[in-house]
Amino acid sequence: MTTLPVIPTSPDQPDAVPTRRRPAMPPRHLADLDLAGRQAAVTTLGEPAFRAKQLSTHYFGRLVRDVDLMTDLPAASRERLSGDLLPTLLTGVRELACDDGATRKTLWRLHDGALVESVLMGYPDRVTACISSQAGCGMACPFCATGQQGLTRNLSVAEIVDQAVYLAGVAASGAVTGSPPRLSRVVFMGMGEPLANYPRVIDAVRRLTAPAPEGLGLSQRHITVSTVGLVPAMRRLTAEELSVTLALSLHAPDDDLRDELVPVNQRWKVAEVLDAAFHYAAQTGRRISIEYALIRDVNDQPWRADLLGRLLHGKLAHVNLIPLNPTPGSKWDASPKPVEREFVRRLRDAGVATTVRDTRGREIDGACGQLAAGELTEASAGGAAGAEVAQ
Ligand code: SAH
Repeated sequence: MTTLPVIPTSPDQPDAVPTRRRPAMPPRHLADLDLAGRQAAVTTLGEPAFRAKQLSTHYFGRLVRDVDLMTDLPAASRERLSGDLLPTLLTGVRELACDDGATRKTLWRLHDGALVESVLMGYPDRVTACISSQAGCGMACPFCATGQQGLTRNLSVAEIVDQAVYLAGVAASGAVTGSPPRLSRVVFMGMGEPLANYPRVIDAVRRLTAPAPEGLGLSQRHITVSTVGLVPAMRRLTAEELSVTLALSLHAPDDDLRDELVPVNQRWKVAEVLDAAFHYAAQTGRRISIEYALIRDVNDQPWRADLLGRLLHGKLAHVNLIPLNPTPGSKWDASPKPVEREFVRRLRDAGVATTVRDTRGREIDGACGQLAAGELTEASAGGAAGAEVAQ
């Protein structure tokens, strides 16, 4: 069988520098395939077709990722299948926890040494996994630690899905105290720009939402895909007729400032990106989420709140304000609380639903914009409960 096609950069990624060396994609894993593909793969390996369902039930139904624990399979089959369908894709390097274990960040090493992170957040009524779609990110937003790192490579479908399956297993173990023992939501808000790894992210969404044992059985409505605003890919997503939530990282209502804060705006302007987002909302009936990191004296002026209010008035959209999280070497700070309150008030007065996101995971550099695996040092682990990840 062939491995996954390697597409180092997407045509939707405007400023990507052509990669000279093809990044090494990982070996194939069952989560790369749908059930029919898994059936074909097991029969090619000389195993009965029903093994596909058996493996899938272990992996997606019972959240068992290690073939050695699938003891109802004959030992010889386990050996044959492990290399070809259940290779280890993610090796845990470190797990950090805060909020009494309700927030956990896991640092993973991939087969080629690339590092990515995932975050699990427990709430009284739900458990959310924040997962990465790329190692690093090519979008270069200056206030985001991942954006400062540059893009290493796209993740494979299975590398994306395996993060969620691992985190679902953590939730199921009861480790997230005070939360239900079931992963209910997945947000593509970890490292990377999901729409720059489009086909794999869409396949990953299909795996996460297919009913068990084909997939993890999450509701499409409980999946959020966040983007800097790659307009052609947003339009393509609209045509998929999925009912996932679309989040747009806007951060400024005017092109002058957005050109700086979200450099991809130099290619697709505010009006165009909002038009694509509103179109998504109209087609799917799903309210879009406008992400806006409030940065002191940069994008928090009352006139910008009023302009944003005018742009969003009467639209199927809500604003999620994110107090800026500190990142290494950044010259920017979060807005003072009174400024934040005034920004919220003006948006609400314009009839726009607005919430302020909690800053979960700040102490472990696990909050929005703080995921930069390369920079994880002993120092950043200080004060948090660091633990090696059990494989
Ligand atoms: N590339 C996608 C997915 C990442 S989601 C996107 O940009 O939408 C991560 C979210 O956190 C984005 O909205 C991002 O703009 C925001 N963010 C990045 N750095 C941040 C910081 N330092 N403080 C608060 N939010 C930040």
